[in-house]
Amino acid sequence: MKHFLISSKALPAQAGRKKVLPSEARRVLISSKARKKVLPSRARQVLIFCGFLTIFSIGSCFVINKIPYKELNFSFHQGEAAIINIKDKNNPYPKLNMPRLIEINLTDNKISFFNNGFLENTFNILSQGPYGKWYETPTGYYKVGSKEKSKISYLADPPVYMNYAVQLYEDFYIHEKTKYLDGTPTAFTFTGGCLRLDSSDALNFFNLVKTGDQIISYDSFSGYKIKDQFAPPVDYKNFWIRQRFNNPIRSVRLGSDDRSQEYIHHAGLDLAPEPFIQDLNVYNIYDGKISAIVKNGEGDHGLGNTIIIEHLINNQTIYSLYGHLKEIKSDLVVGEEIKKGDMVGIVGATGYGCDYWRVGEDGCESEGSLDTHLHFEFKTKPVLHSPVLSQCKINNKIVNCYGYTPSDPTQYGYLDPFLFLFEKEVGSI
Ligand SMILES: [Zn+2]
Repeated sequence: MKHFLISSKALPAQAGRKKVLPSEARRVLISSKARKKVLPSRARQVLIFCGFLTIFSIGSCFVINKIPYKELNFSFHQGEAAIINIKDKNNPYPKLNMPRLIEINLTDNKISFFNNGFLENTFNILSQGPYGKWYETPTGYYKVGSKEKSKISYLADPPVYMNYAVQLYEDFYIHEKTKYLDGTPTAFTFTGGCLRLDSSDALNFFNLVKTGDQIISYDSFSGYKIKDQFAPPVDYKNFWIRQRFNNPIRSVRLGSDDRSQEYIHHAGLDLAPEPFIQDLNVYNIYDGKISAIVKNGEGDHGLGNTIIIEHLINNQTIYSLYGHLKEIKSDLVVGEEIKKGDMVGIVGATGYGCDYWRVGEDGCESEGSLDTHLHFEFKTKPVLHSPVLSQCKINNKIVNCYGYTPSDPTQYGYLDPFLFLFEKEVGSI
């Protein structure tokens, strides 16, 4: 629902597509580009690199874009960023104090560029990958990968231009709205999960960003509130959704003709704190009974300090799971009842480990401030793994899935916590 509305917000922009119909001069330019790109050797090269990615994709060859996160030097509340008035919407506070930071807000369909802590540019996102599909636009920490001014995707049939393409993650790009090689715009619904910008924004964004620039792609709670029957698991107005439910993470390269097989999917909701907030408490979302307390390093399977609580909600037994806690409240006992809104622990960064998952560019080896978040799950069994046992291939090892599933998590006993707990605020668009 939420993301359907976001997509529909962008619809008026369709009217602008007509202006890209080719003039005679443009037609000549396009056809000469097309000829250049479809020379047999070039086509072969592209086929080799692209393998058998599916027709779903308007992406192109993926480029491995992994820069170990530990190389980053980041800090909060330092330097010039500290003097920004966080209450001033014209000077929003960046989520990281980096010299160059790109924030992609998928809720508001905005891209913000911060330079030394100050907002310098914003760009409107015309469309994004549909929420709930396996190729929904990825959320998380990334870095700008490749940049290609004139990019053709041969995976679409017929091929399309996705010019001014800036690599976000694997085969997800930010680029100009797509058009066929004769200049005709593609249908607005045509998407493989990339972010599309209007022509001038795409050009300006392309010229602005540099390979290696830090990216944060996220959802926010703007326009949403917790449903009355629940308590929020955190002070959510001061948290952002660092990783959405069903978020795609590339785990293997099979060379399969079904690209979806190469991605695993996030089974929970990752809630990360804004840098300036004080309240890192984690709260029980509904009356219930404590099912499990798992300590970091004691069979936590990468989830760190974790608590699982059983609830009876609308005659359905559902379990909420709170992972990566810095600490679990010390007087909690398995089997005892717990009330809605009771504190269960503190948001932290315990757990992780490459044996269980890889989290985009956010290295799984190290634990740092960037890792501080609540991993929150809603599921049908009080277990750490997927309720419908499934196996994921992580770093070439077949392991039970923890926190991720091979495809849509709703098929493995998970519920979407965002859709379950939150609703639109009255009056919001
Ligand atoms: Zn998570």
